[in-house]
Amino acid sequence: MDLTKELAPFFDETRARFIELSDEIWRYAELRYEEWDSARYHRKMLEDEGFRITPDLAGMPTAFHAEAGDGGPVIAILGEFDALPGLSQQSGALARVAAPETGDNGHGCGHHLLGAGAHWAAVAVKRYLARHGLPGQIRFYGCPAEEGGSGKTFMAKAGAFDRLDAALSWHPDYETGVVTAVTLANLQVQFRFNGVASHAALAPHLGRSALDAVELMNVGVNYLREHMPGDARVHYAITNSGGASPNIVPAQAAVLYLIRSPSNETTRRLYERVCDVARGAALMTGCRVDIEFEKACSNLVFNRTLADAMHDSLIQIGEPTFEQHEVDAARAVQRTFSDDERQALLAEAGTAEMPAIGPLLAYRPEQTRLSFASSDVGDVSWVVPTAQCVTACYAYGTAFHSWQMVAQGKSALAHKGLEAAAKVLALTAIDLLSKPQRLAEAKAELIARGGGPGYQSPIPDGVAPALKSGVTHRTA
Ligand SMILES: [Zn+2]
Repeated sequence: MDLTKELAPFFDETRARFIELSDEIWRYAELRYEEWDSARYHRKMLEDEGFRITPDLAGMPTAFHAEAGDGGPVIAILGEFDALPGLSQQSGALARVAAPETGDNGHGCGHHLLGAGAHWAAVAVKRYLARHGLPGQIRFYGCPAEEGGSGKTFMAKAGAFDRLDAALSWHPDYETGVVTAVTLANLQVQFRFNGVASHAALAPHLGRSALDAVELMNVGVNYLREHMPGDARVHYAITNSGGASPNIVPAQAAVLYLIRSPSNETTRRLYERVCDVARGAALMTGCRVDIEFEKACSNLVFNRTLADAMHDSLIQIGEPTFEQHEVDAARAVQRTFSDDERQALLAEAGTAEMPAIGPLLAYRPEQTRLSFASSDVGDVSWVVPTAQCVTACYAYGTAFHSWQMVAQGKSALAHKGLEAAAKVLALTAIDLLSKPQRLAEAKAELIARGGGPGYQSPIPDGVAPALKSGVTHRTA
C-alpha cells in the first residue's frame, strides 16, 4: 500500500491536537533554557502516547528524549521550542503590535512549529512500527536553546546523539525543499573589562575606564575584519556599557562577541585573534579583561545519502498547493516589506514578480552552497548522518527573526507547512528503518566526510550551558 495513503487517516485524526500543541508553544514564547512549559507540554503528550522519556540531557532541565519501539535501527527526529526576546507580536497583525500574552518574547524563528512537526512525525512512526510489528526505534529529541545557547552542541558533547543511525529535522521557511546548504560554525564569548571607578572631573587620572577598553576592542576588531577570511563573520553587542553616569569613570563594561566561519578550526583561530585584540585593549586602558567562553556550534556536514532519501519522501508527498485565502494573506504580509527588502527578494527569486508563497525548490545536492547562518544541528551532523528539509510556512520573503514571522506563526499557511514537514519526516524515517543498507551508506558517507566517532566538540571542557538567558522568565 502507498505509504502516504496509509498515513493519511493518522494525520487527519491527529491534526487538531498538533496544531493546538504548536499554537500553545507559540503562546508560551519561552527563551533559551527556560522552555519549562513548552518542554512539559511536549513531554506530557509523548508520555501519554507511550514514549519512554529520558530527561535532563547534558544537565539541561529542558532537554530530553522520548523513545518508542524495539530492536532495529534508531532514528532521531530533532525538535526545538525556544523563542526570541523583544519580538512580542500579535498573531495575524499587519503592523508591529506587541501581544500581552507572550510578554516581551515571540516565536520569530518558528521553533514552535519545528518542535510540533518533529513530534507529530515521531508519533506517526511509532504507530506505524507498532501496527506492523516492525523492529526499529524512533526517538524525539526535545532540544532547548537553539537561539544563542547551542543546546544540541552541549547534548552532542555529552554523548546524547551517540549510537543513532540517522537524525532528521526541518525548519519553517517560505519555501519547500530538502536543505542542501551548509551552515557556519560559530563561537560566542563574553569579554568583561574591569577598570577603576573615579570622579570623571575631579580625579580622572585615577580612573581606568572599562568602557574605553570595550570601545578600543571594537575598533581593533573592526580593523581585523580586513584581514580575516571573506566568508567569516564577526558580530558584537555591548552587554554592559558601564552605567548611565558620564561623571563616573566606568569600572566595569562588557561586550559579547559572536564569531563565525565555515569550519571549526578557522573559527577557533579567529577567536584567538579576537582575544589578542581584547588583551591589547586592556593593556591600552590599564584594565583587566576576563574572557568567558559561552558556547559554540560546528559547521554542518551535508549527507547526500540521507538528503536523497528525504527528497524521495518529499516527492511522494507532492508539491504543496495553496488556497486563495492563503495567497491573499501572504500578499498582505508582503505589503509590509520595505522597498529594499522587496528589491533584494526580487533579485533572489529571479522573477519579475515576487511569488506569494515560495515554490518547491529544485533539488541540487551536487551544489551545496554556504548559508551564512549557523545552527547547532551542525554538531548533530558531525556525530550521526543528518538531513533536514524546509517547508513553506510564511509569506515568500518573510525575514527570519522579524515581527512578521511571529505574526504568521499561527496562520493557516503555518499549519499547512507544519503538516507537510511532519509527513516528510515520518515518511523518511519509515523508509530508512526498512533499509539498513541506506543507513550503512549514510554512515560510510559521514566517515568519508570526516565525521563520525572522532567528533570533537567545539566547546572546551569545563564550559557549562548558561542556563539563565539573562531575560526575565514569563510564566504562561
Ligand atoms: Zn531557527
